[in-house]
Amino acid sequence: MRRSWPLRWARNLLGALLPPSLQAELTRDLGNYFLSFVFAGPIAALLAIATALTVQSMAALFFAGLALAGFGFVISACSAVRLPDADVDLEDVESRYVLGTIIVAVGIGGIVTVVLRGPAPVFAQAMAVMVALATLGAANGTGPGRPLIALVQFPAISLPIGLSLIRHWPAPWGIGTGVGVLVFGLLCVAMARRAYATNMQLLLAREAQAAERQRLETAVHTLSQAVTILDADTRVVAVNRSALDLLGVAPIDPANPPTFAELLADAPNLQKAAGNREEFLGHAAMLVGTRQAFNAAMHLDDHRVIDVECQPVPGGGWVTVMRDSTGERNAIAELNREVRRCPVTGLPNRRAFMEELDQRLVRSDRFVLLLVDLDGFKQVNDRFGHAMGDRVITRVGFRLRTADPGLFASRLGGDEFAILADGDDAEAAMALARLLIEAVDQPARFGDAEIQVGAAVGVALSPGNGTVGEDLLRAADLALLSAKGHPGSHVCLFTPELKLLSARNAGVDSRVRAALRAGNIDVAYQPMIDLETGQVVALEALARWQPDGGEAVAPDELVRIAEARGLVATLRRLVLEQAAAVVANRDPSLNLWINASVHDLRQPGMVDEVLAELASAGLAPHRLALEVTETALMTDEDACRGNIELLNRLGVGVAMDDFGAGFSSLDRLRRLPINALKISGSLLSGAPGKAAATDIFRVAASLGHSMDLMLVAEGVESREELELARAAGIHRVQGFALSPPVPANRISDAIAMAEAAALAGLRLRAAS
Ligand code: C2E
Ligand code: CA
Ligand code: CA
Repeated sequence: MRRSWPLRWARNLLGALLPPSLQAELTRDLGNYFLSFVFAGPIAALLAIATALTVQSMAALFFAGLALAGFGFVISACSAVRLPDADVDLEDVESRYVLGTIIVAVGIGGIVTVVLRGPAPVFAQAMAVMVALATLGAANGTGPGRPLIALVQFPAISLPIGLSLIRHWPAPWGIGTGVGVLVFGLLCVAMARRAYATNMQLLLAREAQAAERQRLETAVHTLSQAVTILDADTRVVAVNRSALDLLGVAPIDPANPPTFAELLADAPNLQKAAGNREEFLGHAAMLVGTRQAFNAAMHLDDHRVIDVECQPVPGGGWVTVMRDSTGERNAIAELNREVRRCPVTGLPNRRAFMEELDQRLVRSDRFVLLLVDLDGFKQVNDRFGHAMGDRVITRVGFRLRTADPGLFASRLGGDEFAILADGDDAEAAMALARLLIEAVDQPARFGDAEIQVGAAVGVALSPGNGTVGEDLLRAADLALLSAKGHPGSHVCLFTPELKLLSARNAGVDSRVRAALRAGNIDVAYQPMIDLETGQVVALEALARWQPDGGEAVAPDELVRIAEARGLVATLRRLVLEQAAAVVANRDPSLNLWINASVHDLRQPGMVDEVLAELASAGLAPHRLALEVTETALMTDEDACRGNIELLNRLGVGVAMDDFGAGFSSLDRLRRLPINALKISGSLLSGAPGKAAATDIFRVAASLGHSMDLMLVAEGVESREELELARAAGIHRVQGFALSPPVPANRISDAIAMAEAAALAGLRLRAAS
């Protein structure tokens, strides 16, 4: 829209119009001047009327009436906006005020002109001028946003006064005063313009600031994150919906904002029980004091965790952002659990176990560490595959964990488990160990397969056997080694002697393992004579290992290490391979007897392996017999039964070795499907000539007879012992008196020697 030039001129002169919102504010501001105008207006009007009456001029009286009416307008305008929220037409109020001041200016200006022109008393003239100047000043004071008023006041008041003074009082002081009044009037116009411009700028800046704040508040309120803005004293300046919802608090009263601490103190959602709030606030107070940014976690009653981040704002104040981090924390916790859990069994893994162990040691708890190692797990893996192995391990893990509710059961890896239990009573610990073995050693069915694995347990007590994790583990490990090295015991409690023993064996142990793995095991053969025919009917294969340049290691030791390290099957394979090949090449009436460990005999795939080895060597199954020691066989009777029955069906003989060295109950002996008894050399040794010892030997022999078993006397060292054996009805004999075990290349000599010795001995008997 194009404006006409006078309007444009006026606009240029007055400056840009105020935006409506600021204009409204300016108009409302008039309410503050109400009282001043109520007092000053009528007084000024009355003085004007009094002056008019004094000079007795109708014109003056008219102008005084005009001034009175003008004041009326002004007062009514101010009165309308006296109350801040009055519902009025502000435009109307503003025009009433401007109109009123203009009328007042014209009225006062008129009186002054009339009074100064006519023959008026000096005091009336002075009064008129004073009232006019006062009006000029007062109206000017309220008009910094209204340059129009100043513009009207100049021609209406300043110009008539100035001109009248110059004209009617042509004395130097009159002219000076007149000029002064004119200059003052012009200055008022200029000042009004300046003030208007400044005021306008100020108001515009304020409005921009308010708009900025409004935008910020809108942004904060629409943020999905929970945000609070605090001032330097941590009073809440703004808080958004999300924050209120999170804390469960009502919107704050902007007139009386709480501090952040008070806001939290009132928050119903914030967990009170945990004392977390107090902790957080204490922490926060300290950091607020030093104006440092800080993070904290708060716990809500519904178990959510909230991260609070407080950032100081440069120049004072704080911004806090609260974020629900429950999901993340849960994920991290889950991850933490995951890295501490065996993925197969779901049990705590080695890491979790070590942490638990350390905690118990730090707390100086009294507890038992039980290391559990499975027997024959490797064979399960070899025979049924790793998937089945995993299922077996999982089942075992479950059985261990549920054996007693108070246990901390973990899987260290492979077929090794670690159990922690409260208390440090040795008896109770051993009972628990046996309970664990019993729990593991139960057949488990997986589809068609029934699998049974055994276990050995090493037990160590804390603080008795160690107060450091490493020591305690080492103690339990030594006990476990010892438990595995003594077939039939399965459980061993750590004793300091084990440590000495282990130090001595450490070197041998690793070298034996290496030899077994490399297959560097030799076999010695000891002939077995049939007393009926005096012929060698079988060779017993005995494992031999002699390190390069070193002393030969006792076979018992070799076997113990192989058992402890899960290498018995390897040992049996090495011995059987060589011996079967050797015996297959000899007379078909010659049989092979080999020693088997129960650890081996209880393995599900063991018989198949033996058959395969026999087949590859070309030795018929009926030419083989397995010897298993009495003590081991008795404790593992059930586990071995299946394989023994299978061997029987295949024609492979099974002999109980070292009979008489243990304490077999007759009952159990009868139940086992064995074919032969090898009576321990310890029963025979030194027996001849001693009635009691001779009786024992005879009883052992008659026991065997009563069960219809083939009887073998081993360890026959003299003709007397040979004679005793023969007299007791023993079928076969073995021993140094006939032939010691010899290497494969001397078998023929040994056979000849044994048969010769037997012949001599029998002849001796025949002669006597
Ligand atoms: P064993 O099965 O009772 O074997 C007989 C042991 O007595 C052999 O000791 C043999 O050398 C020894 N011996 C033979 N005749 C006499 C005698 O007249 N007097 C005396 N005092 N001893 C005699 P060796 O070879 O040291 O074997 C010790 C044990 O090691 C064996 O006892 C057997 O239990 C075990 N063993 C040996 N080889 C193997 C094997 O390949 N596998 C398994 N599982 N165990 C084996
Ligand atoms: Ca034997
Ligand atoms: Ca024996």
